Amino acid sequence: MAKIKFCGAAQTVTGSSHLVTLDDGTNILLDCGLYQGNEEKYENFNREWGFNPEEIDYMILSHAHIDHSGRIPKLSKDGYKGDIICTSATRDLASIMLMDSAYIQEKDVVYLNRRKERLGLKPVKALYTIEDARNCMDQFVGIGYNRWYSVNDTISVRFRDSGHILGSASVTLRIKKEDGYYNYLGFTGDIGRPDRPILRNPVPMDDLDYLICESTYGGVRLQRKLNFLG
Ligand SMILES: [Zn+2]
Repeated sequence: MAKIKFCGAAQTVTGSSHLVTLDDGTNILLDCGLYQGNEEKYENFNREWGFNPEEIDYMILSHAHIDHSGRIPKLSKDGYKGDIICTSATRDLASIMLMDSAYIQEKDVVYLNRRKERLGLKPVKALYTIEDARNCMDQFVGIGYNRWYSVNDTISVRFRDSGHILGSASVTLRIKKEDGYYNYLGFTGDIGRPDRPILRNPVPMDDLDYLICESTYGGVRLQRKLNFLG
């Protein structure tokens, strides 16, 4: 039905990004997170794509946290021209958080280049600027929870409240097959816990054929559960 490439947040806990390539070649990027950390082996993670941004057809964003959204200004700067589909609240929140992230990128690169200069290395440019962050906001399309939104003739998307932060959503893609039936592919994004103040409880996802599941600490929790079950 599709190929899925995990472009981040596999083996590490930040920088979530998954590329789904459908049989007809349509490329859908789920989240576009920034790696936040100082581990040397990930130094170039944020600067390199495992794909060509110009070849992405659609981008869907589960929520505004920077480890899921923080490279969108760079994606846009590097050639992605399509829609960035998310909930309306995520769009509002991302407009603030990406500007803030851009400010940090601009400050960080000054510090980084001072260090590089001392070591006789070539300076680098900021990952993206405040202007890049402002520009990418034109591509955001904010929609409500619980309704199918037609991305094109064969693909629709529906968001369910995932109870994680304001605007956060699980993503269900409904993809029309040649025989007229549908495949359902889900992406959990980050899932909140129930019964917390202010945030609503996570809404269960729809019936699915395929599921991409965020599982930070999942191994540990699953192991505890298995131990508990004996
Ligand atoms: Zn999150």
